[in-house]
Amino acid sequence: MEFAFTDKMRGLQDQVRAFMEDEVLPAEPLYRDQVHASGNPYHHPQVMEDLKDKARSAGLWNLFLPDPEWGAGLSNLEYAPLAELMGRSVIGPEAFNCSAPDTGNMEVLTQFGTRAQQEEWLVPLLAGEIRSCFSMTEPEVASSDARNIQSRIERDGDQYVINGRKWWTSGAARERCKISIFMGKTDPDGEPYRQQSMILVPLDTRGVEHVRNLSVFGYDEGEGHSEMTFTDVRVPVSNLLQEEGDGFRIAQGRLGPGRIHHCMRLIGMAERAVELMCRRVVQRTAFGKPLARQGVIQNWIAESRCEIEQARLLVLKAAWMMDTVGNKAAKAEIAMIKIVAPRMAQQVIDRAIQAFGGAGVSQDTPLAQHYAHARTLRLADGPDEVHLMSLAKQELFRRVPHEG
Ligand SMILES: Cc1cc2nc3c(=O)[nH]c(=O)nc-3n(C[C@H](O)[C@H](O)[C@H](O)COP(=O)(O)OP(=O)(O)OC[C@H]3O[C@@H](n4cnc5c(N)ncnc54)[C@H](O)[C@@H]3O)c2cc1C
Repeated sequence: MEFAFTDKMRGLQDQVRAFMEDEVLPAEPLYRDQVHASGNPYHHPQVMEDLKDKARSAGLWNLFLPDPEWGAGLSNLEYAPLAELMGRSVIGPEAFNCSAPDTGNMEVLTQFGTRAQQEEWLVPLLAGEIRSCFSMTEPEVASSDARNIQSRIERDGDQYVINGRKWWTSGAARERCKISIFMGKTDPDGEPYRQQSMILVPLDTRGVEHVRNLSVFGYDEGEGHSEMTFTDVRVPVSNLLQEEGDGFRIAQGRLGPGRIHHCMRLIGMAERAVELMCRRVVQRTAFGKPLARQGVIQNWIAESRCEIEQARLLVLKAAWMMDTVGNKAAKAEIAMIKIVAPRMAQQVIDRAIQAFGGAGVSQDTPLAQHYAHARTLRLADGPDEVHLMSLAKQELFRRVPHEG
């Protein structure tokens, strides 16, 4: 394993760190105020456009995309510490055009899109002009097993007709979200992993309806996790990604990078929680001494440091393996980090909330929002149990091949 940072990596880290400290973190209250003032929780505030202009001018743009033709051409290992820094704020990734679910969708279009699909959708996404969403999960079926997805994509001449109900389509309610990558069945009687396909559905197509937006822990993060219906939605056959039956193959290509990006950002979120916790506990005194001198609080800080370092090393190993042996061979490591990083972040942020007392669950710190975010990542992109199952099967196969 080789994780040493090159001079180029250190330079980029310094730039992203400075941008986060000088531009993004100070913009958080203004971002909230501008969204609030608009009366629309999914409003795209001017402050975000200003941040994007600055990041683009500084060359800190599309850093997630390893393809040098379209993106910055960084490896996963080079990008990992940058994503970690961006993850310190929920508004950080978008400022660099590196936010979910767009990064996963842009990866799909880069790897699997035709030239025409790339011109129409990838180019404006890479320019930060529009946003996108990914519609796989359905309310009626256990979607952690994607074979259950029931929506239909049926060919009718030179069009596909799409019918289905989706929910948790993150980002669909955002003002600038224009396109969905939609998963559904083209061949319900086919071999289980060849029944599904993916197709591009512009959100202004007739028959696409927003039903409602789902809250997270009872409040709306502004992400716009939409429940949507698709009724006799017609798109040209040229909107299909790859061939009929390639849905699972594309999903695998999308989920590897998407998962590691989430994990990298969670490490940044956990780092910020420890930083906030340390600053707070030296300022507050209870029962005759600063909280920082209470053994239990010192334990929280030390345990958090150990857990962050463990998770980071595992994420760096996964990134290094994705770069050197490919996403498929790094399957176990990708499952491991998707299990470890959200749990770690949830635990660390929880300790910071406790150390802050009542303020920790209020709007006065980013901790409550970050906690909710970390918790949802134990479900989104596959629940913990599915990754544990996949990991156990791989381990069994390695040790006792006939059991795998
Ligand atoms: C904040 C958020 C954002 C999301 N964004 C998107 C998005 O943009 N696009 C999209 O398509 N989806 C999105 N999702 C949906 C997410 O991917 C699904 O919720 C997830 O895949 C689980 O599917 P489900 O909700 O149908 O749960 P189910 O499949 O009904 O599973 C319920 C529970 O069963 C358990 N379980 C499942 N399999 C096993 C097993 N093998 N062993 C033991 N226990 C098991 C798990 O605990 C699981 O949580 C998002 C979800 C959240 C919360």
